[in-house]
Amino acid sequence: MSAAAIFLVVNFIIGLCFSAVFSVVSIYSRWRSAALLFSAGLFIASLTMLSELAVAYADNPRPWSLAVYGTVLAGLVLLHWGVSVLYGRRFPIWVAIVTFLAGMAAYLLIRDVPRSWWGYGFAYQGPYALVTFSAAINVVLSQRKTAMDRALAIVLALSGLHFFLKAVLAAIMGPGATPSVYISTHYAVLSQSITAVLIVSVGLMLLAVLTLDIMAVERGRAERDSLSGLANRRGFEKATKRAMEQAGERQHAVILCDLDHFKSINDTYGHHAGDMVIRAFGTMIGAQAGAGSIVGRIGGEEFAVFLPDTSPAIAVAVAETLRVGARKMMVPGLPGGFVVTASFGVAALSPRSDLDFALRQADAALYDAKRGGRDCVHQAPGLAA
Ligand code: GH3
Ligand code: MG
Ligand code: MG
Repeated sequence: MSAAAIFLVVNFIIGLCFSAVFSVVSIYSRWRSAALLFSAGLFIASLTMLSELAVAYADNPRPWSLAVYGTVLAGLVLLHWGVSVLYGRRFPIWVAIVTFLAGMAAYLLIRDVPRSWWGYGFAYQGPYALVTFSAAINVVLSQRKTAMDRALAIVLALSGLHFFLKAVLAAIMGPGATPSVYISTHYAVLSQSITAVLIVSVGLMLLAVLTLDIMAVERGRAERDSLSGLANRRGFEKATKRAMEQAGERQHAVILCDLDHFKSINDTYGHHAGDMVIRAFGTMIGAQAGAGSIVGRIGGEEFAVFLPDTSPAIAVAVAETLRVGARKMMVPGLPGGFVVTASFGVAALSPRSDLDFALRQADAALYDAKRGGRDCVHQAPGLAA
């Protein structure tokens, strides 16, 4: 077995492994179709290696040469398609088909041109390069601009360039007079080893992009309360601290709210009705707290609102709006006319003060509101004018 043939087998196995990994990743990724397109692309591209072996050893290499070209091109088109899906770029199926057919037509035009001609390599590799560059451009033009996205764009651009490098190498080293002798050339060894490096680097990059996305989604879930759809305590604190860092030297406010006599709602109408109250209250404060606010469910029937760049007086007015909003809520599972009430505590939050301290102050004000008869808004000591 020649060195190039060994590389072909290795590349076949690498391609299949990546294809399998992408199909598994597709189960967990929200970019399911992109992962499946990568899986299909790598599977088809790995068949190139078998076709190359058939070109070398079959009696009639002609159809196998066509298969070699077609499988690489189809693999690249599917890669481009997957990248477009992943990066929110339009790539209709007809464009994929036309791209593939145009590439195949270009190949058929040059397949009988003498391989020793210097331009042969460029004509052969050109469609591959164009498809790969186009995928790189789609990443560059997308909205996503993390370090990982940039790295992927660079690797794709280098992959596009490498096809031209192969054309140069073919012109210098000679790709073999016929497709059948390609496998025994030094060029084939070099070409296939570069291919191995590229499959691994593009495969790993795409895998990293998909895996980081899965991790980000999971992290988001860990910071969200599934019943109300709001941030949970962890998510609320994280988002608030981030907002405070970005806000600079501004005065903020926090509101803590707690549903009144919630236990008796549960006891009288059932736990499910209680859940519906939590959901309705969460939706109401999420909608009414205003743009820029951060709203979280930080305990069973306890909610928090961070109001950036807001004076205590405005925060009290917002809390008052939320209090009235609670009374007006229509909750499925509760009898018509049943009024849900909540109590509110408001505290100021200066740029460098501690969020925990402000929440404790708001909690003390909330406690006062409970003792003061519930269904009312109290301010932390020192805030009341
Ligand atoms: P107060 O007016 O003093 O706040 O009285 P309360 O009854 O609202 O307060 P208490 O702390 O005594 O009871 C809160 C209840 O909230 C107890 C708990 O079973 C219930 N609860 C906590 N989480 C959930 C939830 O997710 N769903 C439902 N249905 N009930 C919950
Ligand atoms: Mg309560
Ligand atoms: Mg409570």
